[in-house]
Amino acid sequence: MPRARVRRRFSASRLIVVLALLAMGATALSVGVGYEVARRNDEHLAVDQRASLRNAVSEFRALFGQSGPLDPRFVRMVEQSTGLKDLKFETEPEANKRELQPVIDAQGRIAGFFTWDKTHPATDAMERLMPIIVGINALLICFAGFSLWQLRRARRELIASEEQAELAADADKLTGLPNHAKTLELLDLILAERADNEVTTFALIEIDGMSDINADLGVLGGDELIVSVAKRLKDALPPQGRCGRIGSNEFAVTFTGENAGDAEPVMRAILESLQRPHWVDSAVRISAHAGYAQTPQHATTRGELTRRAELALRTAAKKGHGTLVGFDPGIDTVSADQKFIQRELPRALSAGDLELHYQPIVAAQGGRIVGVEALLRWTHATRGPIGPAVFIPVAEQMGLMDSLGAFVLRRALKEAKRWPELYVAVNLSPLQVRDRAIVDLVRSALADSGVPPSQLMLEITEGVLIDNPEEMVKRIEDLHALGVRIALDDFGSGYSNLGYLQRFPLDKLKIDRCFVTALGSSANGGVIIQAIVALGRALGLSVLVEGVETEQQRVLLRLAGCDEMQGFLFAKPAPASTIDRLLAQAKRSARAPMPAEALTA
Ligand code: C2E
Ligand code: MG
Ligand code: MG
Repeated sequence: MPRARVRRRFSASRLIVVLALLAMGATALSVGVGYEVARRNDEHLAVDQRASLRNAVSEFRALFGQSGPLDPRFVRMVEQSTGLKDLKFETEPEANKRELQPVIDAQGRIAGFFTWDKTHPATDAMERLMPIIVGINALLICFAGFSLWQLRRARRELIASEEQAELAADADKLTGLPNHAKTLELLDLILAERADNEVTTFALIEIDGMSDINADLGVLGGDELIVSVAKRLKDALPPQGRCGRIGSNEFAVTFTGENAGDAEPVMRAILESLQRPHWVDSAVRISAHAGYAQTPQHATTRGELTRRAELALRTAAKKGHGTLVGFDPGIDTVSADQKFIQRELPRALSAGDLELHYQPIVAAQGGRIVGVEALLRWTHATRGPIGPAVFIPVAEQMGLMDSLGAFVLRRALKEAKRWPELYVAVNLSPLQVRDRAIVDLVRSALADSGVPPSQLMLEITEGVLIDNPEEMVKRIEDLHALGVRIALDDFGSGYSNLGYLQRFPLDKLKIDRCFVTALGSSANGGVIIQAIVALGRALGLSVLVEGVETEQQRVLLRLAGCDEMQGFLFAKPAPASTIDRLLAQAKRSARAPMPAEALTA
């Protein structure tokens, strides 16, 4: 029964019991008072009757002028005038049976007694009412008793439903497993109960490619799969082990044993059990990766244990599907700076301390500004500027990239409205590209801003394409289908795998700064750039070169056939207002190429 209904019934029963008790009390009180009033009424009546008897006796005596034994006619007359019932004159009346009134003769002696029936009309009436009152009270007692019984029952149900509600608050709705908060609470208990010679393992397990699984199975199918995973986990747990669901596709497992080395086989068995086909309409195969840390060797507090298990999980995620990583001090490379960023970045994001600067991109021929690249800037109140290359990887580790990426995209599109003649390039982190939600984010950010998709250029890096090419081809196609353009950033800085380029629907190749630096210094620097430009051209891509710092580089790059350039020679990244000024200035002077001093913020 729903808790609200039980509560209503509980309150109603309580009210009825109270009302019934009040009614019983009121009835008892009114009976007592009624009796007292009736008794007094009867007493007054008796006093009045005696007075009228005395009056009648003296009146009628005078009328009859008699003394001595009373004439029966006289007695009848007195009876009629006083209204006393069955009035008699008796010389020796039976004591206490009837009311008595002595009659004194002329000599002052008692000549006899008037006797009459005792009457108590008011008390008699009360007594006649008694069975009704007793009946009503009996009914009230039954009613109160019944309500009391109901009250007890409702109370029991209320306690039970409250216990159930507590359980529900601790449980994950889909799987019934302890939820995140409860899992941590249980971990605290387990750690507190751990004996000195025991080792507690805390493991985090994440299903691989859950967004694709959801896309294939649908949300309901995805839910069924999660339920099946939860069941497998429970079945594969060692004795006394606990598991919980702590994220949409993330589970935690805790178990205690005597040997630290037992954790690995246990975890491998768990991962293997998850890999066996699950039945969701048809057989579905999945894999999961996991990371774990142990108390006491890796951490003694819950916070440190979970943090290190998280680190191990992240390492496993990087290693690939189905991998297991036990914590090792080597993977805990979080420096003091990173810790500082971890602490401060969420605050900076919510406090609006992050902003975007824009670096102009110019046409190689003529030097006209054709676009801008949005670059994140964070100036900390005490530490000063912190570069995106420093804090973005930390944001990725912390799972902040969703909100950070959404902020950048929405802000860049909002500001891009001011420059309809320019395209705006927005960097996407590998994590963002791996998540299919990026497609919806871009779609909704474009719709909200009203900026035409053709004005947006998304920059992705090579690494993300190589990790999982099949999925990435699909993702880039989906993004492309929105009408936005895609640039491959930092080309040549990493894998430089030319073969995959034609598989992706790319629009622009951004040649990494390292080739530009090599231009003047190394003999073949120019040759490499020429080769890359030729390759880009052959693939139908526009070619941009980043990091152009000198006039000599600019001339060489133009000769090599680059389409666009970006670098300190033209402008450093600057706030949107500076771009406004530059555009206005460029319009006025219509000079080409624009001198670096004019553009440098
Ligand atoms: P990137 O996308 O390759 O951006 C170009 C970087 O080169 C910028 O560094 C820019 O200031 C710098 N740069 C431009 N011209 C020159 C030059 O002539 N000489 C030199 N030495 N450097 C030049 P920044 O702003 O520090 O950004 C570093 C990286 O951080 C970016 O590299 C990009 O990968 C990442 N990043 C920046 N903003 C965002 C963002 O909003 N989202 C994501 N996911 N990553 C971002
Ligand atoms: Mg970039
Ligand atoms: Mg770059």
